[in-house]
Amino acid sequence: MQGLVTKSTGSWYSVETEDGKKYDCRIKGKLRMKGLVSTNPVAVGDFVDFDLEADLQTGVISRVHDRKNYIIRKSINLSKQVQIIAANLDLACLVVTLASPRTSLGFIDRFLVTAEAYDVPALLIFNKLDLFSEEGLEVLQIYTDLYESLGYPCYSVSATEGTNVDALKAVLKDKTSLFSGHSGVGKSSLINQLIPGVELRTGEISDWSNTGKHTTTFAELFDLPFGGKLIDTPGIRELGITDIEKQELSHFFPEMRALMHNCKFNNCVHINEPGCAVLKALEAGEIEPSRYDSYQSIYFGNETRH
Ligand code: GDP
Ligand code: ZN
Repeated sequence: MQGLVTKSTGSWYSVETEDGKKYDCRIKGKLRMKGLVSTNPVAVGDFVDFDLEADLQTGVISRVHDRKNYIIRKSINLSKQVQIIAANLDLACLVVTLASPRTSLGFIDRFLVTAEAYDVPALLIFNKLDLFSEEGLEVLQIYTDLYESLGYPCYSVSATEGTNVDALKAVLKDKTSLFSGHSGVGKSSLINQLIPGVELRTGEISDWSNTGKHTTTFAELFDLPFGGKLIDTPGIRELGITDIEKQELSHFFPEMRALMHNCKFNNCVHINEPGCAVLKALEAGEIEPSRYDSYQSIYFGNETRH
């Protein structure tokens, strides 16, 4: 039988077949994806083959279909291993707020770099629009202009009031979208707006603990009533960036990617090299300083968590 993994607890996977039936499945023995060392061989969003057990309700996964893409989180305990959060994404959406709590630009940029690295189109959702003062709206416009100029669509919404949620629905329709965000930004409230009746708990501070004893669901796939699928990632503080060589990092900043061919040295990493087109553009005000700061902080491994 074949199905889509909609939930994973680390040892059990919920697999939905095309006729809408759900089966609790396990993995037996070793299931490996080519070239990838991960602590979990199967992720939400994966298409899998499974064999039904004698009870006709549970199953054993025998094969993971090739993935179009996937997104990982860092595994704290095993530095070289990664944990796949979700696979086969059409979109990666980051829910952010400019106040209560404020999402840092560094956090936004790390998310976007991760999406670039895994080749998933990304967009930003600025929530709590109802709280914005006039100055707040001006700042919002500046951020929107910045990120849209880089190719990341921005949506401003109020999850509690339902403002602009229809525009968001239009872009999510018929796609599989990952939803990520700091706790407190209103991700659950927004998902409740998008999927009436799903009733995610809101107002809770949740954080996936790194004790190794986790049984927490760390991603869950929901059907969107207007078409498409949404993968929620509760309790994941931050997606991981791994496998990115320092030398490659600027490829994942679209504004740098566009300029780097003009650098004097073809192995330029845009830190202090003479004839660097990126540094020149930064000086000329053509690259946003906050973006270059994010580049530097990732480059030097200074990934402070906010
Ligand atoms: P999550 O941790 O990102 O899932 O955030 P929740 O959905 O639990 O929301 C955190 C808090 O922000 C709750 O008290 C919500 O009521 C509040 N909240 C969520 N969305 C909005 C919004 O659009 N406007 C306002 N004013 N508050 C919101
Ligand atoms: Zn350069």
